[in-house]
Amino acid sequence: ETHTTHFTIDDEVVEKIFRPRDEYSHKGSFGKAGIIGGSYGKIGAAFLSVKAALKSGAGLVFAYSPKCGYEILQTSSPEAMFIEAGEKYIEHIEIDQDLVLGIGPGLGTHHETEESLLKLLKNYSSPLVLDADALNIISKDPSYIHLIPKNSIITPHPKEFERLFGKTKDSFERSDLAVKKAKEHSIYIVLKDHHTQIITPDGNVYYNITGNSGLAKGGSGDILTGIITSLLAQHYSPKDAAILGVWLHGKSADFAAEKHSKESMQPTDVIKELENTFLYIN
Ligand code: AMP
Ligand code: MG
Repeated sequence: ETHTTHFTIDDEVVEKIFRPRDEYSHKGSFGKAGIIGGSYGKIGAAFLSVKAALKSGAGLVFAYSPKCGYEILQTSSPEAMFIEAGEKYIEHIEIDQDLVLGIGPGLGTHHETEESLLKLLKNYSSPLVLDADALNIISKDPSYIHLIPKNSIITPHPKEFERLFGKTKDSFERSDLAVKKAKEHSIYIVLKDHHTQIITPDGNVYYNITGNSGLAKGGSGDILTGIITSLLAQHYSPKDAAILGVWLHGKSADFAAEKHSKESMQPTDVIKELENTFLYIN
């Protein structure tokens, strides 16, 4: 039983984690990110995640989506490669082991999607990012949580957290439960909220102070998944990818709010502001 230490993610913490881009490099130096998501009517979630991964520095980004997303994704994100994984929702997933995966945005919870996710988790042992419907699928059966590879990052909002681990009285109790579960399953839990907390498998808590209520809109979380997956693909450790990713997401939202207002800013504006956030830390 170790003690929980609380840290605040300030500029100093971020400066220690962030690595400027090596000039003696090529696209292979910055890893391959694979975003698995999208279903009929929710291709936008996959788009936001893919676009955010592209804007966060990964060498290559692959979009695993159903066929109905092909034209949308290839047109909106021509830099990403499209891999067909079903007709209207994901039915089968064939991946390279050297791909770093972010799974969940717009995924849906169809039976075939569930089967293909479970199969993937059984055959894949590297840390990955799980969000949204990937977490909702894992919530369907208490045995599924054990399939998550060690040191993976899960990014539940409060409702997804409750589906995974049960009800809590308030955010304090939720945070305590997250510490217990992060230790138990050796995973990083990104507990999304006004002040998002990153909980490490050793039970420490990193408290984020960037971000604002302009993020309280559909699509905001999908961006975070893309950012963290992109950083993980670039060989940041899961801990550093989660901390830096959450901070980048919030900081970009703060730039977007200054420019567009909290009311009018859109998730696509937050993606756009990633460039100013990277300029700020470089
Ligand atoms: P999701 O619910 O999956 O779309 O995720 C929402 C994202 O927006 C998370 O990263 C939250 O931390 C962030 N967010 C939502 N509401 C707020 C808020 N009021 N203040 C700051 N961040 C927020
Ligand atoms: Mg979400």
